[in-house]
Amino acid sequence: MVKSHYDIIIIGAGAGGLNAALKAVELGKQVLLVEKFKPGGECTWAGCIPSKALIQIADEIHTAKKYGNIAIPSNVLNEVRRLTEEAHQGETVEILVGEGIEYLNGTARFEDANTIHVNNVSISADYFVISTGSSAFVPQIKGLDGINYLTNENVFTLTELPKSLIVVGAGAIGVELSQAFSRLGVQVKLVERAEHILIKEDSELSHRLENILVSEGVEVYTGFNAEEACEKELGVSLSIAKDGHKEVLQAEKILFALGRKPNINSLNLDDIGVVYTAKGVQVNEHMQTNIPHIYAVGDLVGPYMFSHMGAIQGKLAVSNAFNDNKDKMSDEYAWCTFTHPELARTGLTEEEAREKYGERIKVFTRGYKEVDRAVVDGKTNGFAKVICDLEGYVLGASILGERACEMLGEVQLIKTLHLPFSVLKDSIHPYPSYSELLLGLSKDASLA
Ligand SMILES: Cc1cc2nc3c(=O)[nH]c(=O)nc-3n(C[C@H](O)[C@H](O)[C@H](O)COP(=O)(O)OP(=O)(O)OC[C@H]3O[C@@H](n4cnc5c(N)ncnc54)[C@H](O)[C@@H]3O)c2cc1C
Repeated sequence: MVKSHYDIIIIGAGAGGLNAALKAVELGKQVLLVEKFKPGGECTWAGCIPSKALIQIADEIHTAKKYGNIAIPSNVLNEVRRLTEEAHQGETVEILVGEGIEYLNGTARFEDANTIHVNNVSISADYFVISTGSSAFVPQIKGLDGINYLTNENVFTLTELPKSLIVVGAGAIGVELSQAFSRLGVQVKLVERAEHILIKEDSELSHRLENILVSEGVEVYTGFNAEEACEKELGVSLSIAKDGHKEVLQAEKILFALGRKPNINSLNLDDIGVVYTAKGVQVNEHMQTNIPHIYAVGDLVGPYMFSHMGAIQGKLAVSNAFNDNKDKMSDEYAWCTFTHPELARTGLTEEEAREKYGERIKVFTRGYKEVDRAVVDGKTNGFAKVICDLEGYVLGASILGERACEMLGEVQLIKTLHLPFSVLKDSIHPYPSYSELLLGLSKDASLA
């Protein structure tokens, strides 16, 4: 039975909301978590989890193909859904209730700044955390109305793999899905307006990754603008243009991965005066909106739209709500694009560091060919770059290669603890491991 008043109400049970609710329980507070779908949010149902399951299956098939022709199993997408359900088992309603969270299934809307309306009931709280996430942004492309296009929201519900697929947008989501579908035998055409894929990443590494995608058979159209879409008997066509040159691409399906828009509309924020822009709800460094007892976290806020960022923001928002000495959101960030090989990143790229610090940086690079483990695994197509300031502290690092995401954690730790990168060089690492690459790089830093 839902109470009429809580210490704190969390709206949205994705990465941000779940962590906020768990933090509230940890602090001994009465918390209500309101979710219109199921706990887990985008990450579980249409993001990290199904995409990583698809990528893993695609990688296993890709590896198996080295040893002979194999047929692509027909149940790939069912298996993705089975694995997704399995991952969800750690965050079911029963588990949340067992943790001490009160859970309500329904769509929340603010009645006033202290009350929400859900399922025809009004419920008030001392504090609120809004964590309603984001949705796929699909631009107004001529002809798109009426076309049955895909986004991350419905691509994982397909029952069969398409024969061919146009992917529009070569950010992390577009690139990950392009490679995975291509490895599963789908003919993929990847269209990107920028001059190379993963435009926010270190350009040297994203060019290397683009070459890998092309070598695997993904057709990459960089510098092309999507202009007009049209439904055909056997699929869809997309007209694209670059410097006056036009091409028409055809495929069975089209997928848009062009960025995100915040889920604001259903909340009635205008009436209660919470300030937001097209990019999301505005918060201060404590995750507080302009209305001090209302906090906002996760994709709804940005700027780094990742589960781990939403989770940290969620915990911070709740501890700040109940604390007069409020902590600031850390300015650390790290993420990974889960292609094969992975492209992992913390802090600044070389371009960003040069723009900010000019020549006052040191750049250390090494290739995977120098690492015995990469050689014996046949995974030498990798490259790492660490950028330090003149005192040897890490400003940023990008690693493209096998196990890059796990390796990045070591650099991230050094960066977060604000230790000079060279401290790593004498620490014992098991042989043969990929992380020996980092030992080599830190030795370079100690000699520079
Ligand atoms: C294809 C894809 C792959 C991704 N891969 C990764 C990855 O590998 N690693 C990573 O870190 N991030 C990844 N992300 C990003 C990650 O999924 C998001 O950053 C994360 O899910 C955001 O969490 P959130 O809590 O802010 O929002 P969400 O997870 O979107 O949760 C918001 C919740 O609020 C609910 N809701 C909305 N409005 C209301 C309302 N009015 N009342 C009640 N409930 C409401 C929604 O139903 C939803 O459950 C990926 C995203 C996509 C699309």
